[in-house]
Amino acid sequence: MVVRDVKKILVVGAGTMGHGIAEVAAIAGYNVILVDISKEILDRALERIRWSLSKLREKGSVREDVETIMSRIKTSLDLEESAREADFVIEAVPENIELKKQIFSRLDRSARPGVILATNTSSLPIGEIASATSKPEMVIGMHFFNPPPLMPLVEIVRGPQTSDETLKITVEIAKKMGKEIVIVNKDIPGFIVNRLLSRLIEQACYMVEEEGFSIQAIDSALRYRAGLPMGVFELVDFTGIDVVAFIFSEMSARGFKARVCRSIVEKLEKKELGMKSGKGFYTYQAPGVYSRPSIPREEGERVDIVELFAPMINEAAFLLENGYVDSPGTIDTAVKLGLGYPRGILEMADQWGVDAVVERLRAISSKESMKHNAPTGLLLKMVSENKLGVKTGSGFYTYAGVEEKRLKTITVRKENRVAWIVLNRPERLNAISPEMIDEISRAIEELETDESVRVIVITGSGRAFSAGADVTAFTNANPVNAYIYSKRFQEALNKIETIPKPVIAAINGYALGGGLELAMACDLRIASENAVLGQPEINLGLIPGAGGTQRLTRIVGVGRAKEIVMLGDQIPAKEAERIGLVNRVVPHNMLENEVRALASKLAEKPPIAIMMSKAAIHLGGEAPLYSGLALERALFSILFSTEDLIEGVSAFLQKRKPEFKGK
Ligand code: NAD
Repeated sequence: MVVRDVKKILVVGAGTMGHGIAEVAAIAGYNVILVDISKEILDRALERIRWSLSKLREKGSVREDVETIMSRIKTSLDLEESAREADFVIEAVPENIELKKQIFSRLDRSARPGVILATNTSSLPIGEIASATSKPEMVIGMHFFNPPPLMPLVEIVRGPQTSDETLKITVEIAKKMGKEIVIVNKDIPGFIVNRLLSRLIEQACYMVEEEGFSIQAIDSALRYRAGLPMGVFELVDFTGIDVVAFIFSEMSARGFKARVCRSIVEKLEKKELGMKSGKGFYTYQAPGVYSRPSIPREEGERVDIVELFAPMINEAAFLLENGYVDSPGTIDTAVKLGLGYPRGILEMADQWGVDAVVERLRAISSKESMKHNAPTGLLLKMVSENKLGVKTGSGFYTYAGVEEKRLKTITVRKENRVAWIVLNRPERLNAISPEMIDEISRAIEELETDESVRVIVITGSGRAFSAGADVTAFTNANPVNAYIYSKRFQEALNKIETIPKPVIAAINGYALGGGLELAMACDLRIASENAVLGQPEINLGLIPGAGGTQRLTRIVGVGRAKEIVMLGDQIPAKEAERIGLVNRVVPHNMLENEVRALASKLAEKPPIAIMMSKAAIHLGGEAPLYSGLALERALFSILFSTEDLIEGVSAFLQKRKPEFKGK
């Protein structure tokens, strides 16, 4: 059999999935026979298909009229007779191994030789289903997602004996149906999507049950910070808690190790099955009536996103390492199209750093009930080979344009459009020496003209951002060289403040004296919760000399600035956030990722408008109101000469993401 000989597709089972698959096949131009066990079920299936087609037609998603497509679908109660006519079969009867085997054995006896028998099973072994036939090489998994006409993905799963030809033809048919496909080379419980999703559910449950997070906090983090279409508990409710429990139990029965989610078990016992019963993790207006649960954005701020996804990434690495899938792209296509993720999870892993993922997995798997989540060999190997993701230029993917330059006191690393200046004297808590000032100053000058860089991040290596000026430089100081030192330091900070690109200070620990002055010259300050800030110069008999009396006043106001400078006390991060000295405080192990996400977001904004906004705010802030406003309108009007404005407006009207070029 070759693909062009396939004209008539038999779909067995006209329920939720079967009727949708029949519809997709008919839209693709195939003649379809839809088989079920009662005329009522078949009539209802036709009704549902007609309704769905009319909706697709209204949206302009199908070209032919509804009745033309419908004319290609016929129904039957006779499996054997239908099988004799069919060129290709897709089975979608309930998830019951005995039933499936019985259907496959009947199909085997009636179908013509060379006809491929595909199963839409979500969790049953393809090999076991195939064992009911005399031609296991012709049996394959073809896992559609619900609802088939709208969900673009099909997982194509090879059984132990599936032939290359069966795979090839099935792939082509799925593509002809307009589907994107991912190939699962060897059968494994849950295939790709359900297997990965199960790990996310498992970890989310763990964080709720053992770490005290609320379900809203987890869902909020997933929805708003990871950008998923819905949180994981929302998704479980939507899918049906019984369905999810069933998938877990089927997968576990086939060797998938997972901690039991008590919350799911309890809901199941109380018959709170999610949206369909009106109550699950959330409450709905009425059974079966979907309403999007309201989840406050702030709830998820303390959730460590990397921890939440680490087991899922680990599972993906396991699939790769053991040849279940061929490439990271397969995994990422599966989650993007099967779960609607905005980015692939391995792309996310590369962003976060494979080392960060491994660190989380070590902590997670140190708990007895989660020990099966120990980092896979592949992840450990990647760490030992320094394939950490974006920051080292290669991880699951490779990244052009990642380069690192180590100078004496700082490291400058470019990751795509973001440059990181890392103060690198960790043994001295990154004390700022004259040499460091010069190196920062030169780095800023170079980055200003480097068109590949749109955003700059300054941070410290080790425990501190910077604990201040290097006091050993002061021992032989006299007023003249102190003046020169102060001037050089101030000029370097002025460069940071006036460079026409956003600069973020990622304050990872102490930011004292010169360290805080450096951070204050940056546009945004994100601090980890263990950060400590302050201007302690007064305790040495000094005052700040690199903007500490000036920028601090402009940021927190005269009264607070006097208090900070005159007392020289250390200010904890939370207090710094409260008085507006830092923009945001995040848990320590999330700082790098939060800053990377913020920097990537800023890097997507129109560079010229960013430059103008920085100038308008800085220079305008120094000027009387009417001069500031005049400056604002001058800069505003200049933007009307940019291509970026045309791109921004067109993208807005076309409801797509703009691609700003900085022109
Ligand atoms: P369903 O219960 O809605 O439909 C199954 C249909 O098969 C019913 O109409 C039933 O009458 C019919 N059937 C039962 N015995 C039959 C027989 N002997 N001959 C012909 N028809 C028979 O189930 P569903 O949700 O459509 O699931 C079908 C398959 O698809 C299952 O293997 C399931 O795991 C898989 N799947 C389901 C989803 C989902 O979200 N529902 C997603 C992907 C895959």
